Amino acid sequence: MRCVMNVQILDPWDPIRSLERYGKHVLTSVEFTVTNLCNMRCEHCAVGDALVQKEGPRLPLDVLLARLDEVERLQTISVTGGEPSYDAGALRDYIVPLLQYAKRRGVRTQINTNLTLDYERYETLAPYIDVFHISYNYRGPEDFRRIGFANADRHVGEGTARKMYDRMIENARRLADGGAFVSAESMINYRTHEYIADIHRAVVEMGCRRHEVHPMYPSAFARGLPMLPKEDLRKAISTLLDERDRSVWMLFGTLPFFACGDDPQDRALVRRLADEPNVTVRGDPDGRNRLNVNTFTGDVTVTDFSDVPPVGNLANDRLDDLFDRWTEHELQRKVSCHCPAAGCCGPNLLVADMYYRDVDFMKRKAIL
Ligand code: SF4
Repeated sequence: MRCVMNVQILDPWDPIRSLERYGKHVLTSVEFTVTNLCNMRCEHCAVGDALVQKEGPRLPLDVLLARLDEVERLQTISVTGGEPSYDAGALRDYIVPLLQYAKRRGVRTQINTNLTLDYERYETLAPYIDVFHISYNYRGPEDFRRIGFANADRHVGEGTARKMYDRMIENARRLADGGAFVSAESMINYRTHEYIADIHRAVVEMGCRRHEVHPMYPSAFARGLPMLPKEDLRKAISTLLDERDRSVWMLFGTLPFFACGDDPQDRALVRRLADEPNVTVRGDPDGRNRLNVNTFTGDVTVTDFSDVPPVGNLANDRLDDLFDRWTEHELQRKVSCHCPAAGCCGPNLLVADMYYRDVDFMKRKAIL
């Protein structure tokens, strides 16, 4: 097994790159929801409401590839679910050919997976994957059971959960040892903010080359969970920066802190994040360089989890045209500010809605 590409220097999923290059937001990234099946039911699952026990047929792969052919500036593809490796047949006949198309085109690839199934499935994917992206929010197997099956409609025993937890860790290590780029995402929420540095240490031990950290936002299953005040978020991020392993890339995203913020503590954190070596803050890709395609319905959305209705359907429109239509949408225009000196292209829609309801970002500017 070999690692296809090292994505450490560049972050091709960051919309600031394409904005700087083309002078406007353009579609460079397409995410495919390939399944709504999953063997877990996580407390924080951002697509939890869409998960099912059985699913129907996908659109023919040719239809997808024909639409991808039309995307002029395609740079990245992401595959997400559910658990994309859940159905071994779909993995072999649909997901692998999609990834092979990406590799033929020189496009970087990511799969969002829980890595809890048999290693062979992930080994099959490895030659075509640039980033294995997993979620990791645990101090150990008990947290994994409590969080990972919080919304399950059946009881999951300690032994079963422990086996899955061990398999996830072992799969991550084996993939990493074989040269794969494994990136673990943790969310800072009411539960994890107090032990986020312990989570970081576990992520490093698993062999992950990147630790991705985001605050949790109230979407789908996470809708009812308590939100963390900004002070606690700032504190958790500062702790991580103090205690992190500096050899591991830390990527922060969907943060509610901006260089135009009124609070000097927010701006100090933004500066610190920019100055730290091996730390990046990704601009929000949703609707800025990326669209999500549902491979069952053909619906095209701005993210796989937002409440914003589809912007169109693959059957009727080119993806580039749908993207251009979205950039004119009132919701997107509200947050399409850009401060080049701060390397910032505005907040995520959920972030703006949660923390900045009365703020007009189009009238703000970075304070440097
Ligand atoms: S781009 Fe927008 S959010 Fe970022 S600093 Fe400028 S005004 Fe603030």
